[in-house]
Amino acid sequence: TTIDSDIAGPAPRHHTTQVKVGDVAVGGGAPIVVQSMTNTDTADIDGTIAQVAALARAGSEMVRITVDREEAAAAVPHIRDGLAKRGINTPLIGDFHYIGHKLLAAYPACAEALAKYRINPGNVGFKDKRDTQFADIIEIANKNNKPVRIGANWGSLDQELLTKLMDENAASANPRDVRAVTREAMVQSALLSAARAEELGMPKNRIILSAKVSAVQDLIAVYQDLASRSDYAIHLGLTEAGMGSKGIVASSAALGILLQQGIGDTIRISLTPEPGGDRTREVQVGQELLQTMGFRTFVPLVAACPGCGRTTSTTFQELARSIQDFIRDEMPNWKTKYPGVEELNVAVMGCIVNGPGESKHANIGISLPGTGEAPAAPVFVDGKKFRTLRGPTISADFKALVIDYIEQ
Ligand code: SF4
Repeated sequence: TTIDSDIAGPAPRHHTTQVKVGDVAVGGGAPIVVQSMTNTDTADIDGTIAQVAALARAGSEMVRITVDREEAAAAVPHIRDGLAKRGINTPLIGDFHYIGHKLLAAYPACAEALAKYRINPGNVGFKDKRDTQFADIIEIANKNNKPVRIGANWGSLDQELLTKLMDENAASANPRDVRAVTREAMVQSALLSAARAEELGMPKNRIILSAKVSAVQDLIAVYQDLASRSDYAIHLGLTEAGMGSKGIVASSAALGILLQQGIGDTIRISLTPEPGGDRTREVQVGQELLQTMGFRTFVPLVAACPGCGRTTSTTFQELARSIQDFIRDEMPNWKTKYPGVEELNVAVMGCIVNGPGESKHANIGISLPGTGEAPAAPVFVDGKKFRTLRGPTISADFKALVIDYIEQ
């Protein structure tokens, strides 16, 4: 059999104009950026600093905060200062709706402290008296040399534009067409707003576009259209993705397909946290999506078998979980800590069926004993058997070997 070595991979990245958000490059071939958003009241300075710090530590390269009222706008420079005192310079993005123009004008220190302003054309608009609101924000952004994200959203779409397109397509209206017309309104809303921003003097290298929808197929169609009709940098995200596995699956399906097609310069996985849940989960999922697709490496990757009836005890699950947590907690900045280590794959397997084979493909791997197997756990390093671990300290011993491996 002749093997074609030309393995299919992602399409070439869609060409976009690079935008600098603080020191972070978005688009124009830069690595795809993971971002997130706080859910604290921005007026709660300490609470917001703590959550931005947690998101940044988890690997969020930009963090968006809501700026919805005067108290929030007044808090922004203090949040920026508080983060700087902790050595955190992650760019902060202000999320503005309705009165953003007033807040940015009344609180110049807020306008200065933010690295980017997010504007929703659906509730700013630019066709009538609201025109000055959009123009005011662009003017302030221009004065401060700040980029903007023009973020159309299915749930707050420009109603005038939608009505106009519905009227124009009334003759062919059926339920399917309504979705198609709504998608077109999303794309037009983003593109017309971007064109208006350029008319107002904002250069293209300070404009990022997004068009968020909550249904996977609509999201894919909208972004494909947006990318084919412009070269603005693109923020990808599925809005209202939902809780738990549904949110993760829907976001991964939609964003995975678009990323594979070369579309998307920065991503946010919008997950509804479980009550008391950890906000940093959305950062972790975003990183894992990019890493498992081969676009970037963030943390060492742990491969673990699912376990089955051959798994003798909970030791296997505990070890897999413990190694995963250890790597994520101890090595969020591992590339800085261990310069030169580009990629690391760790395997934790439950028996000898696939254990040794899979472990040999990893940089370092362990195969725990399955049912009826001798109580010994061979460790493989760079494809060769390195040592056999035994006894109650297998987990700690293996972690030490992982660290030793990286350091060497
Ligand atoms: Fe089961 Fe062994 Fe396969 Fe793990 S490697 S799923 S324990 S057969």
